[in-house]
Amino acid sequence: MTTKETPVASAPPIPAFWIGVHVLSQFVFCPRAGINAFENPQDFDDGNEEEARLGAMPDFSLALLKEAFQSAGFKAFLFGIVAGGCLVVAYTIRAYGLAPFVSFGIGGMLCMGATFFYAERAVQSLLQIRSLENATAKEPDPTSEVPMAIHWGEMLKAGFEPQWDRERLVHEPEMLKGTPYLVLRRNGVQIPVIIMPESSVKVHDKYRVRIAAYCHLLQAAALASSPYGIVLKANSYEGETVPVTALLRQFFHGELKKARRFIAEWRTERKAPSPPAPALCSGCPFGEPKPVGGDESAHSQMRISMPMVILSDGNLQTRHSECGDRFNWVAPHEKTISLSLKRIV
Ligand code: SF4
Repeated sequence: MTTKETPVASAPPIPAFWIGVHVLSQFVFCPRAGINAFENPQDFDDGNEEEARLGAMPDFSLALLKEAFQSAGFKAFLFGIVAGGCLVVAYTIRAYGLAPFVSFGIGGMLCMGATFFYAERAVQSLLQIRSLENATAKEPDPTSEVPMAIHWGEMLKAGFEPQWDRERLVHEPEMLKGTPYLVLRRNGVQIPVIIMPESSVKVHDKYRVRIAAYCHLLQAAALASSPYGIVLKANSYEGETVPVTALLRQFFHGELKKARRFIAEWRTERKAPSPPAPALCSGCPFGEPKPVGGDESAHSQMRISMPMVILSDGNLQTRHSECGDRFNWVAPHEKTISLSLKRIV
C-alpha cells in the first residue's frame, strides 16, 4: 500500500528591503514602534536616535574638551571685563540721571550672568579634562563573553581615538544600513559606542541588538575587527561593554528576520503586530497624544496618509498620536491616561 505524502509547508521567503539599525532597534523595543519608525522617513534614515542630539559630543575627546575650556574661559574673561566696566560706569554716573544709570546697571548685570555661565562651563570642562587625564590605560578583554565596566578615560589612554565621521555603513547581502554616531578606533579595531538616554538604567535588548548590528556592519563594510561595543551611561564617562557573542549574533539575525516579516505583513495584509504590555506605551513618543491643530501637518509632511484617531477630554483641544493613527487604536500613553482622553473619531 502506498501512502500519499503530504507536502511540508515551507515558510514563505522573507522579502528583501533595506532596514536601518535604528528601525531594527525599535522593533526589538516594540514591533509597532518598528513599523512606526520604518514608515517615518526621519527615523528610517537612522539619524534620529537620542544620542545624536547630545550636544555634549566634544566631552568625549580631550582635544575638543581643551578647546571648549579655552573658549569658555575666554568668554568668561571678556564678559567679566565688560560687566565690571558697565557697573563702574553705572556707579560713577548714578548722580547724573536715572536712565543711563539703569541702562548701564542692567547691561552690567546681564554681562555678569554671562560671566558666571561661561565660568561654570570652563570649570566643568576642566574637571572633565582632569578626569580623563588622571585615568590609566586599561581596556576590556576583547575575548570576554560577559559585559565589563569601562571608563572613557582608560580607553583613550589605551590609544583609542573617538571619531564622529557619521559615515553610513551598508551591508548589501543583508540589506542592512546604519550610521554609528561614535566609534572608537585603534589600528584595525573599531568599537561602536552608544549613549543611553537618562531614562534608561539598564542595557536593554534594543541597545544590545544595536551594538551587534553596528559591529556586524563595521566588520562587513569597514573590514574592521569589532568584538564588542560600548554603552555609556548618560552624562558619564562610565559604561559597559556589550560583547558580540555567538548568542547575541543569533539574536540579532533573528530580530532582523522578524522585523522583515512584521513589515511584510503590514505592507501586504495591513496586519498589525499585537500591542505590547501597556507599560511600554506609557512613555513611548509614538503613543504621545499631541494637539491636532499643531501637529496636523506632521503626517502630510512625511507624505503619509493616515486617518486620525482623535482623542478628547471633553474640552475644545483634541489630540492624536502617530501610533494611534497608524494602528487605529488608543495607545495607553501616560498622558492619555492622566488627561482622561477618550476616542471621539
Ligand atoms: S505606543 Fe505602544 S504600541 Fe505604539 S509604538 Fe509605542 S510602545 Fe509600541
